[in-house]
Amino acid sequence: MRFGIKTLDDASVQGKTVLCRVDINQPVDRVSGTLKSINRIQACVPTIRELSDKGAKVVLLAHQGSDIEYKNYYTTKPHAAVLSRLLEREVRWIDDVCGPAARDRIRTLKDGQILLLDNVRFVAEEQTLFEMKLRLSHEQQAQTQLVTKLAPLADLYVCDAFAAAHRDQPSLCGFEQVLPSYMGRLFEKEFCTVSQVMEAPDRPCVFVLGGAKISDAFLMMNTVLARGVADQVLTGGLVANIFLTALGRPIGQGSLDFILKSNYGEYIERAKELYAQFGRRICLPEDLAWVKDNQRCESPVPQVPDDITAVDIGHRTAERYREAILSAKTVFVNGPMGVFEQEPSEYGTRQVWQALADTQGFTVLGGGDSITATEKYKLTDKMGYICTGGGALIRFLTGEELPVVRALRHGAEVSEPKMR
Ligand code: ADP
Ligand code: MG
Repeated sequence: MRFGIKTLDDASVQGKTVLCRVDINQPVDRVSGTLKSINRIQACVPTIRELSDKGAKVVLLAHQGSDIEYKNYYTTKPHAAVLSRLLEREVRWIDDVCGPAARDRIRTLKDGQILLLDNVRFVAEEQTLFEMKLRLSHEQQAQTQLVTKLAPLADLYVCDAFAAAHRDQPSLCGFEQVLPSYMGRLFEKEFCTVSQVMEAPDRPCVFVLGGAKISDAFLMMNTVLARGVADQVLTGGLVANIFLTALGRPIGQGSLDFILKSNYGEYIERAKELYAQFGRRICLPEDLAWVKDNQRCESPVPQVPDDITAVDIGHRTAERYREAILSAKTVFVNGPMGVFEQEPSEYGTRQVWQALADTQGFTVLGGGDSITATEKYKLTDKMGYICTGGGALIRFLTGEELPVVRALRHGAEVSEPKMR
């Protein structure tokens, strides 16, 4: 039991049917039907292997893609093949989620066998649209088709989908109402790591916040500053540009237009308030970079020309951030320092990421683009912890209790069904 949730150490799974929710949502190439990345599938292998090794009949539930954008919305068939390869054992798959075919397949599973069901979001109750419109309570989620059809076939529920822990859907929060529930190894690792950062980080604790997802950054920043989690926040990317604008410093007309066009204008006011309250702990760039004729140009902030778009922090800022990171004991990172995808504007991100690799402090990194930067600079092995869950991680750091965490705490109290 950790943080009020049971772990696999508390479970006895031999001969039992275990419903295991994983997050193996990956970018898909629809033309070839293959996955463009498999990092999330790799991450949940330890839990699946452990359950199977211990003689459980493992039934995997997973989603693929968003039903709102319909992009990437796809079957889980290719995932079963990848899982088979990674586990070096057969992973069965069925083109059904909770209908008679799926239920028959579950009933015929033998100890140690693994079955992946099709995309749970093919069931209406699992759709994001359904989640946002109807807002079912966890008790109501336990009465959905998905839960009422599958739970009677199972003894236990395991959730290993920390990346989806901010979602409030039956496959994630409904089973905990009726089955004894546990977090899987990946969930345990991610949840305990980020809980540690939030509750008792080794100090100094430095947050590096950059990138372009302004709403996330501001929510998170407010919480970690107000609660005293962050001793220092190093800003980069658009986050820094918004603060500089709020303080009346020049960032170039192009940057300002970009902020207003992206409807981030309201954050200028928020930045003013945050800076007034916590300015002593918020670091802003002292120099910025822009690109002209494919050449990188830099200047100290007060002299930034009006006709540019700032796309990176400058050399002096990168050096200052490097020192702060090297002397930190905990570093949390979300969002690159600049448009690192292009060579002339990658310097700041590259330098800061190298400092993350060099520091003795414990580094926790999350966010799709931040992970891409880590891979680009071949520093994956040098980071303390890379979190698979972008949205869940951010929501956690805003101080909200995640719906799946609440459900799993409830599920820790549910006892095993006596009769099957
Ligand atoms: P993550 O995916 O790590 O959470 P975000 O999605 O918030 O990060 O931001 C990443 C994106 O932000 C990258 O595509 C990067 O090019 C962009 N970006 C970084 N700095 C700037 C900037 N100054 N102006 C515009 N875009 C930026
Ligand atoms: Mg991103």
